[in-house]
Amino acid sequence: DAQRAPDYLSGLNPEQREAVETLDGPVLVLAGAGTGKTRVLTTRIAHILATGRAFPSQLLAVTFTNKAAREMKERIGLLVGGAVEGMPWLGTFHSIGVKLLRRHAELVGLKSDFSILDTDDVVRLIKQILQAEGIDDKRWPAKQFAGMIDTWKNKGLDPAQIPEGDARAFANGKGRELYTAYQTRLKTLNACDFGDLLLHPIRIFRAHADVLAEYHQKFRYILVDEYQDTNTAQYMWLRLLAQRPKGTPQNVCCVGDDDQSIYGWRGAEVDNILRFEKDFPGAKVIKLERNYRSTAHILGAAGHLIAHNEDRLGKTLFTDRHDPDDDKVVVHAAWDSEEEARAVGEEIEQLQRKQHKLNDMAILVRASFQMREFEDRFVTLGLNYRVIGGPRFYERLEIRDALAYFRLVSQPADDLAFERIVNTPKRGLGDTTIRNLHDYARARDIPMLAAAADIVETDELKPKARKALFDVVTDFRRWQTLMETMPHTELAEQILDESGYTAMWQADKSAEAPGRLENLKELIRSMEAFESLRGFLEHVSLVMDAEQNENLDAVSIMTLHSAKGLEFETVFLPGWEEGLFPHQRSLDEGGRSGLEEERRLAYVGITRAKRRCHIWFVSNRRIHGLWQSTLPSRFLDELPESHVEVAEVEQSYGGYGRGGYGQSRFDKQEPFQNAYSTPGWRRAQANRTEATRDNWGSRSGHAVERIGYGESGPRARTIEGE
Ligand code: ATP
Ligand code: MG
Repeated sequence: DAQRAPDYLSGLNPEQREAVETLDGPVLVLAGAGTGKTRVLTTRIAHILATGRAFPSQLLAVTFTNKAAREMKERIGLLVGGAVEGMPWLGTFHSIGVKLLRRHAELVGLKSDFSILDTDDVVRLIKQILQAEGIDDKRWPAKQFAGMIDTWKNKGLDPAQIPEGDARAFANGKGRELYTAYQTRLKTLNACDFGDLLLHPIRIFRAHADVLAEYHQKFRYILVDEYQDTNTAQYMWLRLLAQRPKGTPQNVCCVGDDDQSIYGWRGAEVDNILRFEKDFPGAKVIKLERNYRSTAHILGAAGHLIAHNEDRLGKTLFTDRHDPDDDKVVVHAAWDSEEEARAVGEEIEQLQRKQHKLNDMAILVRASFQMREFEDRFVTLGLNYRVIGGPRFYERLEIRDALAYFRLVSQPADDLAFERIVNTPKRGLGDTTIRNLHDYARARDIPMLAAAADIVETDELKPKARKALFDVVTDFRRWQTLMETMPHTELAEQILDESGYTAMWQADKSAEAPGRLENLKELIRSMEAFESLRGFLEHVSLVMDAEQNENLDAVSIMTLHSAKGLEFETVFLPGWEEGLFPHQRSLDEGGRSGLEEERRLAYVGITRAKRRCHIWFVSNRRIHGLWQSTLPSRFLDELPESHVEVAEVEQSYGGYGRGGYGQSRFDKQEPFQNAYSTPGWRRAQANRTEATRDNWGSRSGHAVERIGYGESGPRARTIEGE
């Protein structure tokens, strides 16, 4: 009973406690956001350890990220009082997979010091294989095949098992053969890819009953968080480890929420939840219904939204907190993403003045390009921020490449920039050529670009390299001249086009390529606020210099996908517009299920908030390089009025002393006005069909509007073409 129970149990509600104390036999905890699933898992581990049922090394616990694993370890330590020794098998599927594979590598023909290839390595390897087979890489891109292999591996398929249709779909029916060749090559190289970290252990378990039995002995308890996002291969791996011979207890506990399944695009299978009860007969299914994280308003808004999904198991969620002082979910409208960032910054500073910690605030974006505006703004304000789950905007590969082009145009002596892009995209300028150039430049004490200009006049290089380098030199000369006359944003766009850099990503078939192209567009857009290329580059070096310190009090910026499992006092959700959220790609490629996955993402976003949730949409966003009037997201329309309020226009946003920016702007903007007044976005919604036609009409015709950046700075806007 509660009185004699250890401290760590006494705070739990009866259902949570049941989930913690049901240690024998399979358990599935199926429950909504913030109901304590992760807390149950953590407490369960503490309970197992505290009661001496197993040693730390006898627990297998899977989390979704390494960060979550670290946090779980810390909390278990707190619960049982004192540091937990070991827990070597607490980690992500991948990190546990590596460990298993190192121990038994020889059983699949590897040595224990095998290397793990990243995506770039994999593509390079596939390219070699295609070449060896005489397959045209242009027609059958290596990247595309790498993607296919990844999909097969997510489904746990060996070459012999892939569907006939898939095998036929690549290189005139050579799919299977090539997949086999790829696996053979990996073995020769003593290497594996990410998929193999799971597939090899599966192969080992299947072929060597003694090894599997060893782990059945070893792992007394198996626990899995974020179970809804496991893919088929992960499930197979798990089932092999958890299914025991008859008569032995199958101590496996999985916790998840079908409404938070957001990795379908990466092969996750929500159906694994349904499979669990079939594969583990007699499993105890426990539902948790009380939410401890959020206010009633936040919960009400999220619950109403997710109810629009047809494809769900359905569940109840309630909270005991009913504080009349709690804020409703606030929907804000902004003119464009710049104002959105400025207003969010303002909101954050206001909270800061009321002693709220930056650590308790997060901005969750749908697409990574959205981060740029916030990063820029926060640097201007001197607000600390950290980007979680990825590089900061200006540190992204494609942005660094593009910046290197711009730097070299603006500053021809920038050798680092030169070396970075001279052969990106590929121009057939190999290492030898670059080394020659380097030596030549050093001997004469001149920059490499100048050396290149010299050397193409000689016959030191092979004709092909000489021609390629000549083109590079000519390009940069032309761009340098244009810098004097052409607006810098236009020039920047032209540089990326003429250099073939944009085309390189357009031709790229990888999953990241569209995001990279979006980021490049966003980069050009970000230049508009500056007078010149030099001014912009200076700004960038300042942003890059800003500190990213773990211990600093800082606002977190991340994508919705990386926010899973986390919670913050205040959450900002910008960019709720049709096309961005729900994202057009998901709608185009996924149809209804694509839309439902987007809606689950929105549900994940709102339910990260404990006390305050601010949603934003803008009236104008640059899409495909053109300014467009945007429509508020349909998800806004799916929020219940009783839990949501629409923010008043804040006079202060206009008060930055810049010309042409003030209240008057709102008066002139009909659509903006409509969207702004309660329940404005509903009206906008009603007009959707009409408005959509209008938008597309203007997109194919002349620009809807142009924003002029004159003397008075970026705020002076003129509307043309209407
Ligand atoms: P998600 O689906 O977002 O991953 P979750 O179900 O894993 O959420 P937790 O993160 O475990 O939920 O818990 C949400 C919050 O509620 C945490 O701050 C946790 O400490 C708190 N919490 C959970 N159970 C209780 C309880 N019995 N008493 C007090 N607080 C609780
Ligand atoms: Mg959780």
